[in-house]
Amino acid sequence: MTEEFGLVEPGAGEGDSFGDEWEEIDVSDTEADRIARQRDREFSEFRERLKDADQFKVEQAVFDDATFAAIYKLVQDGHIDAFGGPISTGKEANVYEARGSEGDVAVKIYRINTSNFRQMRDYLEGDPRFEGLGGEKTDVVIAWTRKEFSNLGRARDAGVRVPEPIAVQRNVLVMELIGESGDTAPTLHDVHIENPQTAFEVVREYMRRLYDAGLVHGDLSEYNVVVYEGELVVIDVGQAVTIHHPNSADFLRRDCRNVANYFAAQGVETSEERLHRYIQTEADPRS
Ligand code: ATP
Ligand code: MN
Repeated sequence: MTEEFGLVEPGAGEGDSFGDEWEEIDVSDTEADRIARQRDREFSEFRERLKDADQFKVEQAVFDDATFAAIYKLVQDGHIDAFGGPISTGKEANVYEARGSEGDVAVKIYRINTSNFRQMRDYLEGDPRFEGLGGEKTDVVIAWTRKEFSNLGRARDAGVRVPEPIAVQRNVLVMELIGESGDTAPTLHDVHIENPQTAFEVVREYMRRLYDAGLVHGDLSEYNVVVYEGELVVIDVGQAVTIHHPNSADFLRRDCRNVANYFAAQGVETSEERLHRYIQTEADPRS
């Protein structure tokens, strides 16, 4: 394994779209809902095929028609050509690998009946991007999926290495697959790293860039950083909030604690306090 982790430099993104600016997030009747309602023959056949596929057999009970319709739309739009196996079944979402027209992708499907939706709502409340969102379970999960897509774009623009966001439909998110098909990248937790100091400096820099871009990850730890070809890739940004969220300071503290504890256990000289200070006080050379 390569041990010199390189920083990914900030790209030519929007650059000025950071902070708490309003972003239109419309969770009303989606195209997928219309497809599911119409149930034309082509969609019905698609749905039955997918339901029969091995990797979806287990999920019949949890994926509703509108979720199948969202996948159908993503196939029609050329973002997904064929599904591979499941990568992970998490608390809120199932992640699959798939082949798309632009290469291998990861497809993250949030389950509408997720048990954590109340917690999701707490994260969404206080985020100015989601003002006025009602309490409907479906709307909350759709907004959450959009938020992850939007956060991936923001993080990327800020120079944080994350999976490239490709498309979003309803509760289904398509992004760049990190790793090879059939051999997806492990998380920091799964591997032994030879040079923790370098890895720490990269993660610390990404945390600072994210913060400068007005975002706090909110669930950062060795479990949400994957390691691939000498790169550290930050994943799982669905819960990331803007710095104006009432709990953002607590989330930042917790992220600092998790990251500092992990690297301190690897022999790096750091602490929650030091990391926190670094992120908040280091001047951004770009601004
Ligand atoms: P958990 O509840 O386990 O945290 P989650 O539902 O929040 O899961 P993620 O953390 O985003 O979902 O992803 C779960 C797992 O899927 C990751 O640990 C990683 O192994 C894999 N994964 C997610 N996104 C990608 C990607 N773009 N490329 C490769 N693997 C990925
Ligand atoms: Mn995760």
